[in-house]
Amino acid sequence: MKIHEYQGKQLLKDYRVAVPRGSVAFTPEEAGEAAAAIGSSAYVVKAQIHAGGRGKAGGVKVVHSPEQVSEAATELLGKVLVTHQTGREGKEVRRLLIEEGSAIDKEYYLGIVLDRKISRVTMIASSEGGMEIEEVAANTPEKIVRETIDPLIGLAPFQARRLAFAIGIPGDKVNQAVKLMLGLYQVFVEKDCTIAEINPLVLTKEGKIVALDAKLNFDDNGLFRHKDILELRDPNEEDQKEIEASKYGLNYIALDGNIGCMVNGAGLAMATMDIIKAYHGEPANFLDVGGGASKEKVEAAFRLILSDPHVEGILVNIFGGIMKCDVIAEGIVAATKSIGLNVPLVVRLEGTNVALGKEILKRSGLAISPAGNMADAAGKIVSLVDQTAGGVAQ
Ligand code: GDP
Ligand code: MN
Repeated sequence: MKIHEYQGKQLLKDYRVAVPRGSVAFTPEEAGEAAAAIGSSAYVVKAQIHAGGRGKAGGVKVVHSPEQVSEAATELLGKVLVTHQTGREGKEVRRLLIEEGSAIDKEYYLGIVLDRKISRVTMIASSEGGMEIEEVAANTPEKIVRETIDPLIGLAPFQARRLAFAIGIPGDKVNQAVKLMLGLYQVFVEKDCTIAEINPLVLTKEGKIVALDAKLNFDDNGLFRHKDILELRDPNEEDQKEIEASKYGLNYIALDGNIGCMVNGAGLAMATMDIIKAYHGEPANFLDVGGGASKEKVEAAFRLILSDPHVEGILVNIFGGIMKCDVIAEGIVAATKSIGLNVPLVVRLEGTNVALGKEILKRSGLAISPAGNMADAAGKIVSLVDQTAGGVAQ
C-alpha cells in the first residue's frame, strides 16, 4: 500500500526525521490559509498523488506569498498530472501539500529497500540526489553506496556514519544525517515498509539536513497490525477493481493485457499467465479465487473480470480439489446473468464435481468453448481474441 507524501512526512516526523513545516490542503482557500499559518518568505505547493516524477511534470511549485500559493493551488487542483510513474492516463490532483520553502545547498538520495538477492534490508545513499536519480543508477552506479543491515542488530550508527561520509555530507552535519537515517530505519521496520525513500534529502543553506520528499510503501500482508497506516489509505489513488477484490478476499492484480483470467490457486494462476504469454496473448489480470471459495465469491470474481473494459476474452482455469467445479460454474452463471457476456469464454475444468460443473455451464446456454488441458485452453482463448480483434479492425 502507498500513502501520500504529506502522510509519510507526518510519520517520519514522529520518528525524529527532520521535515519542512507544512500541511495538507484540499482547496485553494485552504492552501492560502495553510501558507499564512506557516509564515515564510518562500512556499512550496506540491501535488499529492501516489507517483513520483512530479517535479519534472510541473507538480511542484515554489512561490513567495500566500496569494501565490492559492493561485498555484487553483492551477494544480483538478489537473491530471502525467509523470514517468503514472502511466499515460496520469493521475488527478485532489490534495496538495503546502510547505515552507527550503533554500537548498545540496541534494542527496537516501532509501531503504529489501535486497531480495541477499534477503536483507539495505540502506542506499547517493551524493547525486534529486530528479535525475534514475540516470545516476543507469550511468554512474558507483555513485550509489549501500549498507546491508543485519536484522538482529539493526542499522548500526557506524554504518549510518559511513554512508553519510561516503555521500559527502559535511563532517559537522554528519550527526544530523545519522539521526535521520536511524529514524528512517526504525519507521521502515516498525511499520512493515517495503520502501522508504527520501529523494531529495537536502542540506539547506542554514546547515540543516532535511527530508524534502518522502515515499513510504507498506507490505499489504503486514497491514492487519497497522490500523493507523490503513487509515491513510486513499481510495482515489487505487485500482477500484483491486479494492473491490480485497472486500471479497480475492487475490486480484490488474495487468495491461486483454485476456481475463479466473484461476484457483496462486501457482496455477501464475502458470496460466505464463501459458497465455507462451501463446502470444496478454493476461488482463492475475486472479486467484482461492481454495474454498463460495458461489458469491466466484460471482464477484467473474464480475470483476467483466468490469475491466480491456478484457476481450476470458479464460477460466480451475483444478477443483477443495474448490468444487459446480460452485465455480454457478458463480460464473450468476455473474453473467446480471451483466451478460459479450466476449469469448474458454473454460477448463478438472477435478471435484467436474461433470456437474460442466452440466451447469451447458444448461446456462452461455457460449462457452470447453478446453481439455491448459495448452488447449490458452491456444483457444488467444485465437478467439485475435479473431474478434481482427473483426473490429476490418
Ligand atoms: P518528485 O519529483 O515527485 O520526486 O517531487 P520532489 O518532492 O522530490 O520535488 C521535486 C524537486 O522540487 C526536488 O528535487 C527539488 O529540487 C524541488 N523542491 C522541492 N521542495 C523544494 C523547496 O523547498 N525548495 C526548493 N528550492 N526546491 C524544492
Ligand atoms: Mn522526489
